[in-house]
Amino acid sequence: MFNALGTETHLFIRGETFLRSFDPMIQESVTKEYERLGVNLHKQSNATKVEKDANGKLSVTYKDASGAESTVTDVDHLIWAIGRTPETRGIGLEEAGVKINDKGYIEVDEYQNSTVENIFALGDATGKVELTPVAIAAGRRLAHRLFGGEQFSALKLNYDNIPSVVFSHPEVGSIGLTEPQAIEKYGKDNVKVYKTGFTAMYYAMMEPEDKGPTNYKLVTTGPEEKVVGLHIMGIGSAEMLQGFGVAIKMGATKADFDNCVAIHPTSAEELVTLK
Ligand SMILES: Cc1cc2nc3c(=O)[nH]c(=O)nc-3n(C[C@H](O)[C@H](O)[C@H](O)COP(=O)(O)OP(=O)(O)OC[C@H]3O[C@@H](n4cnc5c(N)ncnc54)[C@H](O)[C@@H]3O)c2cc1C
Repeated sequence: MFNALGTETHLFIRGETFLRSFDPMIQESVTKEYERLGVNLHKQSNATKVEKDANGKLSVTYKDASGAESTVTDVDHLIWAIGRTPETRGIGLEEAGVKINDKGYIEVDEYQNSTVENIFALGDATGKVELTPVAIAAGRRLAHRLFGGEQFSALKLNYDNIPSVVFSHPEVGSIGLTEPQAIEKYGKDNVKVYKTGFTAMYYAMMEPEDKGPTNYKLVTTGPEEKVVGLHIMGIGSAEMLQGFGVAIKMGATKADFDNCVAIHPTSAEELVTLK
């Protein structure tokens, strides 16, 4: 966002790409696009020192992969985006017998029960899928199970195939397994991947340098080609994913995708015409 607003922006990342838990196609294409957009990427870097001079300007020193140190000076603002840690210690949970794992997350079973009867945990504190609708969905199901009567006594949240979106430039949407995860789970011979890359119609009238990339990947398994992963990057991905998420949650196959007639001209149609 800062880069898009015209600020000189530096991004220090520990690996070669960011969004490391996403499919490699997403990691590589978003990283490449950020470089194209002019973000100064410092790959394989670890920040080691931050100093402030008399004028209030910061300098950030970091080590690269070879161990060599470099410094970026004249920095106005430094934003750490290094994840969140649950504040679960020191409030008596462990003394009550509630098990907390080495990362500080409260251990729960599939019904959100902690290791102590009548103490429950859900949402970020359990470290499963740290998203607002996930916490809400787990909370609703738990409330129904506890207070909703017999018909809800087995209600729980299914954490499989939860769609998630990154509001990067351009947006990223992802559901299910990445290609490496699918290969690990089903074996290379049982995984078939469909991919496409194109320039969305949205950019048709724009100058070449203003055109962003679009990359889609469908990960399928078995002879029926059940869709077990969908990874999309490009304009409108956040809105698109919700609908495709329903199909994948219902167990859609590649043939089901192909049987849905394309809506033209859209980007989404590329997902039902993959070859
Ligand atoms: C910068 C940022 C952007 C995000 N963007 C998105 C997004 O676009 N979409 C999305 O789905 N998710 C997003 N998330 C994740 C989302 O905010 C969380 O997954 C969600 O808030 C989790 O809900 P929760 O109820 O588990 O925890 P929280 O919303 O963190 O609620 C926990 C509450 O417990 C309180 N609390 C903590 N300790 C104690 C204590 N000892 N006693 C009493 N109260 C306590 C806290 O003050 C807080 O109010 C984002 C998170 C961050 C940090």
